Amino acid sequence: MVSQHPPSVDQLARSLEDTGLPHPLLVDAARSAISSGDASDVEVRARGIAERMARNLLTGVINGTGVLLHTNMGRAPVDVSMNSGRYTNLELDLVTGERGSRQDRVPQLLAKVCGAEAAIVVNNCASAVMLVLAALAREESVAVSRGELVEIGGGFRIPEVITQSGAKLVEVGTTNRTRVKDFAKAIKKENVVLTLSVHQSNYRIEGFTESVKISELAELGVPVVADIGSGLIDAGCPWLESGPPSWLMNEPAAKQTLEAGADLVTFSGDKLLGGPQVGVIAGNADLVNACSSHPLARALRPGGLVLNALEKIVLAYLNRDSDAIPFWRMATLSVEDLLSRAKAISEQWASETLSTPGGGTLPGVEIPSAGLVIPGDYSEEMRLNDPPIICRVVDGKTILDLRTVHPDDDEVIAAAITALGK
Ligand SMILES: *Cc1c(COP(=O)(O)O)cnc(C)c1O
Repeated sequence: MVSQHPPSVDQLARSLEDTGLPHPLLVDAARSAISSGDASDVEVRARGIAERMARNLLTGVINGTGVLLHTNMGRAPVDVSMNSGRYTNLELDLVTGERGSRQDRVPQLLAKVCGAEAAIVVNNCASAVMLVLAALAREESVAVSRGELVEIGGGFRIPEVITQSGAKLVEVGTTNRTRVKDFAKAIKKENVVLTLSVHQSNYRIEGFTESVKISELAELGVPVVADIGSGLIDAGCPWLESGPPSWLMNEPAAKQTLEAGADLVTFSGDKLLGGPQVGVIAGNADLVNACSSHPLARALRPGGLVLNALEKIVLAYLNRDSDAIPFWRMATLSVEDLLSRAKAISEQWASETLSTPGGGTLPGVEIPSAGLVIPGDYSEEMRLNDPPIICRVVDGKTILDLRTVHPDDDEVIAAAITALGK
């Protein structure tokens, strides 16, 4: 319909009601369409704007990229469904009826799986590091190797986090080589109250390098904090029947880092732990208590929905039930099984592929996988599917890696490929 006169904002907004958006958002869409061009195609423009808004509401997506921890898709997939509208016992002890702490239960189960005396859970790993430094080293000095003054993900820079926490950074050694003697000298000269070791999660320095082991730092007489980042719980992977996969390589694990002498470890919940977005501080009970009683702990505490999702994952670790941890279930699927799923979707396009762990962990690591490889770029058609399917395009080919796709979604992918006329 081509209007002679520009339609009223209200009229235009009402004509978009079938998009399902609330009226105030439709009014925004109508206003912005009216002000951005002439009247002849204002309806089309308004509909385009409203559809883009509706499309960008948070929704479940099918991850066909083969990147197991995809930063743009919330890293590890988790089940955040919870008792539909009921209250929870978040801070209530159901045995005594007294007030409890949200930090008493799930964090203690988590401490158990990583062999720590105690643990607390905060919003993410960046806030875990910040809280540890604020609670244990405010107005004091923290020694860090120059090789570990890294930036991890957008904006998490170790020197800036230290400054923000109110601690003073003492740089030790050089970019490629730092020895335990360098730390000992710094501790003697400055008022160093803790050493911080940061895992170089997303990059690697190769060649003429030397770094200080946790066991050596532990000899120096000040608490050692190890930011291991990835949240691998135990290098032995007892929750996997087949033991640790070869691609894990030398990824530091919470249990072994504590055994080596770290007083505290910090890590993310949504990387190799395979849980929701949280940060964990685990280790020595006195140091963990100092963190929980700091005022920032309240500001950084997680909500009940997140703790519930984390509890499911931690119980799965205690049950050694890797099938209940979506990340580990997908990470350990065999290429044969993936290939037979791919062939069931499309005999023609089934192919071997390569997955990656992602999430800023294990740089350069590839995991043999299988999926569909279709000549041409169909990423937009796939993304506009309902539900959206996110894929990779490499060398002009669309790659749908089935490792990161739940088998229940195979039929959605089959239908989307059929719709391409492929
Ligand atoms: C990923 C990572 C962080 C940041 O973790 P978030 O949970 O994203 O805040 C910090 N330190 C290390 C070593 C990491 O790998």
